[in-house]
Amino acid sequence: MTDGLKASQIKGGIRPSKSFDQGRVCKDESCSTKLSIYNKRDHCFNHAPVKYPRVRGRILQETA
Ligand SMILES: [Zn+2]
Repeated sequence: MTDGLKASQIKGGIRPSKSFDQGRVCKDESCSTKLSIYNKRDHCFNHAPVKYPRVRGRILQETA
């Protein structure tokens, strides 16, 4: 009867407040953007690999 509440439970237990190394910069060679210690990625937001969700198996492409 209360399946909705059950689904909202957090899995994996308690998460330690982990931070990452300070002074990291974007992995892009031409980029020196500093990364937040709380940013677990290796790239700044400009260079982070972006996953485009597929929309019904079709990718729209602009033709020059
Ligand atoms: Zn970058």
